[in-house]
Amino acid sequence: MKSNSPNQRFSLTTIFCSTFGHKYSMSKKITNHINEYQCKTCGQEVTNVVSGKIEILTFKNKKVNACLSAFFQKKLNKAS
Ligand SMILES: [Zn+2]
Repeated sequence: MKSNSPNQRFSLTTIFCSTFGHKYSMSKKITNHINEYQCKTCGQEVTNVVSGKIEILTFKNKKVNACLSAFFQKKLNKAS
């Protein structure tokens, strides 16, 4: 088993997720196309990125999403 993140604790839930896959549910809407998701089992957070891929929600991705979200809200307010 490889571990990319030093923060990720080795536990039964991570074994479960690596075997059966994560059970993501949307935790935060960023834009119409970009959302943040959290695994219900192990709590791992991921996000869509602009390219359409799913990436682990790192500090950098969180910052990008915060900017996108602010921009998106401004756009929404202008449109209405
Ligand atoms: Zn998981």
